Amino acid sequence: MSTLRSSLMELINRLCPDLSPTAQAQLTIPMGTVNQIRQVFEERIRQHDYDPDITLINRALRNTDELIRQERTYAGQLRLTEAIGLHSLPSHLRDFLRDHDNLYRAAIRSRRLAGFAATSKDVDLFSNIKVRILNLWNTYSLRTISTTRSPSERKRIRKEPAFKKELLDCTDLLVDEIWRVIHRNFQIQALLPEETELENIGPDHIVDTFGSDITPPPAAAASMLNPPDENTKLYHTQRCCICLDTYTSHPAFKLETCGHVVGKSCLAAWLNSTATNATTCPFCRTELCTRRARRLSARTQALQTEQESLETCLKKALRIMQDVDRLANTIYGDGVDATLGAWTGDAVKEVNRRCCANGVMVGFRRDGRVALRWRLRRVEWARGGVVA
Ligand SMILES: [Zn+2]
Ligand SMILES: [Zn+2]
Repeated sequence: MSTLRSSLMELINRLCPDLSPTAQAQLTIPMGTVNQIRQVFEERIRQHDYDPDITLINRALRNTDELIRQERTYAGQLRLTEAIGLHSLPSHLRDFLRDHDNLYRAAIRSRRLAGFAATSKDVDLFSNIKVRILNLWNTYSLRTISTTRSPSERKRIRKEPAFKKELLDCTDLLVDEIWRVIHRNFQIQALLPEETELENIGPDHIVDTFGSDITPPPAAAASMLNPPDENTKLYHTQRCCICLDTYTSHPAFKLETCGHVVGKSCLAAWLNSTATNATTCPFCRTELCTRRARRLSARTQALQTEQESLETCLKKALRIMQDVDRLANTIYGDGVDATLGAWTGDAVKEVNRRCCANGVMVGFRRDGRVALRWRLRRVEWARGGVVA
């Protein structure tokens, strides 16, 4: 007990060096209350299957101490509640302890989830990274508790290779994913036709409803004795205006509306094509029928759908990258805002390097106006791949 009390005093000394010895003494929490807190926390540890962890108790004490530092009148209140116990502590102190306990529980949960996500094949990439980053955030928050702004704990975390490795692993996964999305999207751009590819919907136009067949000449060839009639002349001399072939190769068809003659099979293909003027006579452009309903071709549609899902993936990846950046800079930088984008910088340069090496004309450029301070742009890679 006396070690607890003295470590508490030590903490108070460290946190409030400017307090007079009397004021510091006043801040000491009565041991009865300390014991109550210890009991409650130990009970919670038991209930929630936590690792029996003396650091939890120490943290609770440190937080109590922090509260006292901020609201100095608590010392007196706590002294009065010595015999009563945790349940009758001032409500905001009780809430604080409960929040802290919740955070601890959340941290345990996310630690388990992160362990599961890192090893399971059933977890998708983004959930995997998200839960692992959340775990790192929780670990960090739990150990520092934002209200104490404990720089020493941050220094300790900075020196832990496992923490940094986990952060780097997550970043590498994000880089791979961002690269995959950009690369595939670039491939799709090349696959998509310049003009929108359409296909017709519903039943075909029946060509017979637009006119009538012209009877082909008899098998016997025309001769001097048997001069060619009009139809025979038509079959031998005139040509279909669509395929420019004579009607000996494909039967002729006369349009009822305008009287023009075209190859029957060519007309059928024409009227059922996706061309905008496929509703007209191919010769004189007289309107013959209404347009068939069209839609994007299945291939174009599939590519566009894939593009949309890639865009969603990219947005997600960049959002998570932002979170990684924030965490990394909170721990390894000097402050969140001052170095925003610093951690991401290396990751982004790696994506750019891959784009450049593979002739993908897209890359990240610095842009202070966007959240990550990097924006994806079309770029012409210089030889050697200089990245602005
Ligand atoms: Zn033809
Ligand atoms: Zn016509």
